[in-house]
Amino acid sequence: MANPQGDKIMRKYKYPNNVKKGKEHPRWKGGNYEVENGYVFVRVDNHPFKNSGSYVAEHRLVMEKHIGRYLQPEEIVHHINRRKNDNRIENLRLFSNEAEHMRFHMNGEMEIND
Ligand SMILES: [Zn+2]
Repeated sequence: MANPQGDKIMRKYKYPNNVKKGKEHPRWKGGNYEVENGYVFVRVDNHPFKNSGSYVAEHRLVMEKHIGRYLQPEEIVHHINRRKNDNRIENLRLFSNEAEHMRFHMNGEMEIND
């Protein structure tokens, strides 16, 4: 096996073989999509934390829908399989701030090496 560690991660997180793209991507009602730095942004007109162009990161919208409230700007939504455009709720994990998110990343690396 060329990359036993990678294989272990793939099994752990059930990597999807093909992420939906383009036309196959589920449409947010009435929204437009933009992709920036690999992240998907959705146009929303009434959102307290939309950016200047009225866009909000899709992974944040998915998490907000899931927990039933708006995320605070300091809250971070992490992509479990590290794919920034895989915004299925089972691929997302919420952290209350960047420090907690970073701590998770460091602990995660240690788990993988062990
Ligand atoms: Zn992360």
